[in-house]
Amino acid sequence: MRRDVVLLAVCAAVLCVCDGVTFGRLCSGNSANSRRVTDIWGNGKYGASRGSRGHEGLDIVCSDGSIVYAPFDVTLHGKLTVYSNASTKTAINRGIKLRGEGLCFKLFYVQPDQTSGSVQKGRRLGVMLPMQTVYPGITSHVHVQMCNRTDPTPYF
Ligand SMILES: [Zn+2]
Repeated sequence: MRRDVVLLAVCAAVLCVCDGVTFGRLCSGNSANSRRVTDIWGNGKYGASRGSRGHEGLDIVCSDGSIVYAPFDVTLHGKLTVYSNASTKTAINRGIKLRGEGLCFKLFYVQPDQTSGSVQKGRRLGVMLPMQTVYPGITSHVHVQMCNRTDPTPYF
């Protein structure tokens, strides 16, 4: 094959890797990746109202203290701070950045076991933080946000 044809084939394979990607189970107790719907604090869908801006992720139901799993084979790319000035939210102000299946995404409100290396699908990533202590009555959830802030919903 000519070199440009080979290159084209390689590019197509890389671009297509995200097509049909579906997140596996994220949280113990929620094998279907059920989404947060409306509660007294808002709605968990992408683009839902958050005051002056839109919700930039998708919320997957996860009870406080639950185990959070790798939704597919992932590599870990550091811990996150969710809120930049969050004196009242320190209990849940953690998360992790991941890559896998051609996607870059973040999980908020998770205390990660480790912040580098790789984790296989279905293996433990960490623990759901105590969201009820910060947002009483909310549907506790992991917030899934793509690194480029596009809509993660098609992957669920
Ligand atoms: Zn959210």
